[in-house]
Amino acid sequence: MAVKKTPAAGKTPAAKPAAAEKTVRTRRAAPAAKDAKDAKEAVKELKEKLFKDYPNLWDKASTDDVESAYAFAEEYRRFIDLGKTEREVVIASIETVESLGFVDIETAGKVLKPGAKVYKSIRGKGFVCAVVGKKPASAGMNLLGAHIDSPRIDLKPVPVYEEADMVFFKTHYYGGIKKYQWVSLPLSLHGVVVRGDGSKVSVCVGEKDEDPVFTITDLLPHLGAEQMARKANETVKGEELNLLVGSLPYGDKDTSSRFKLGLLKLLNDQYGITEQDLVSAELEIVPAFRSRDLGFDRSFVGAYGQDDRVCSFPALVAVTDQEKPDKTCVAILSDKEEIGSEGNTGAKSRLYVNFLSDLYARTSGGYDEIGFQKCLENSKMLSADVSVGYDPTFGSVSDPKNSAYLGRGIVLEKYTGHRGKSDASDANAEFYAEVIRALESAGIPWQTGELGKVDFGGGGTIAKYMADYGIEVLDCGVAVLSMHGPFEVTSKIDVYYTYLAYKRFIEAV
Ligand SMILES: [Zn+2]
Repeated sequence: MAVKKTPAAGKTPAAKPAAAEKTVRTRRAAPAAKDAKDAKEAVKELKEKLFKDYPNLWDKASTDDVESAYAFAEEYRRFIDLGKTEREVVIASIETVESLGFVDIETAGKVLKPGAKVYKSIRGKGFVCAVVGKKPASAGMNLLGAHIDSPRIDLKPVPVYEEADMVFFKTHYYGGIKKYQWVSLPLSLHGVVVRGDGSKVSVCVGEKDEDPVFTITDLLPHLGAEQMARKANETVKGEELNLLVGSLPYGDKDTSSRFKLGLLKLLNDQYGITEQDLVSAELEIVPAFRSRDLGFDRSFVGAYGQDDRVCSFPALVAVTDQEKPDKTCVAILSDKEEIGSEGNTGAKSRLYVNFLSDLYARTSGGYDEIGFQKCLENSKMLSADVSVGYDPTFGSVSDPKNSAYLGRGIVLEKYTGHRGKSDASDANAEFYAEVIRALESAGIPWQTGELGKVDFGGGGTIAKYMADYGIEVLDCGVAVLSMHGPFEVTSKIDVYYTYLAYKRFIEAV
């Protein structure tokens, strides 16, 4: 009842016919004043002025732009092949920014001048870097925030067991995955183990051509009748995600647990670790294949973990491109987004804001609380995260009028969340429109979209955690197909234009 507006009695009957008559007269008069061709042209112009359409960028882009998009995709692929986990992305990011003259903020001077380039590792699992701008920090910073963790499978604290003369690892999946997608695939193992003496060893097995790989076995179709009758979310159950890792025994037949012993001996010989060290270890199982060009025309990138490295990479490049920006610009690459941005390496962590306050202090002649709060209030951020691309095969879950399409550029999303915008950071119209103006004035195409039909599901990003500090935040990023699957798909033209959009944001907003 509250929604429907009923006109006040007595007023409308007189007013309405007059207005309607006026409209009719205007409509009829216009074509009469021009010849038919002019009228057609005028209608076309009016349509162009009033409608917003979202063209395919392969039509729109110049040959140079297409070449740049393909070249950018090469760099992007190199970067994501180097970093399949958050820790590896941090290592790759540090190498990249150090080669460009960035220094660890801890070793930088107490006073940072415009053009200074600093970074910080957030416990080796998150990363922040910044280029100091010409304007005072009180003017606010321009932030690009993406995440570098991806859905995957982790080891349980007590992973090793033997059964039927084979050795397996018990696992616990991380983030939203369709478990059935992760069986019968070549998988690699990445991460760190801290030994009893406190020393740390990195593990990365399954990436080099000569490396062995691992797999989670699946049932043959011949005996799969009961399994195939299960609901899809139970086709493969969490406790069935067991990683096959070996089968060589150690000791004679009388030795108990000799297969497990064989595996642990091998791990000890190779890495100096014991079963106890695995309890605290962070070992992540990811697909063993590398990124690939996809399609006869190579217009797509297919790879694991593009959510959200496909936004992280353009964000990092957009910031490292800067020499002396107007405002201080910052790239934030956070961990744990896939499980709610938790922990001290997720976007909720104070460590990211600590970096910003440190940066504020070093560019403002010292720290003062009110000044820093003002700086946050004046700061603006693009929450750089992927969006769902419209997949015609599964079109029924999307509203085609409010979907993002591969090949139509960066997706600006007013809100994410689910069911009535719960948990959404709904971008303010003023800020959203400011971003659109910045893109439009530079001729950078963009599109919009929502994550599926209303009440069909939803999703979140880091936007709301940064918005909590008073920062203006807008979600935007690259449209992805097969999101959260082991092999996600993006369009090269979108990745390139997303980079241009991030750069424009830093320079013009
Ligand atoms: Zn995700």
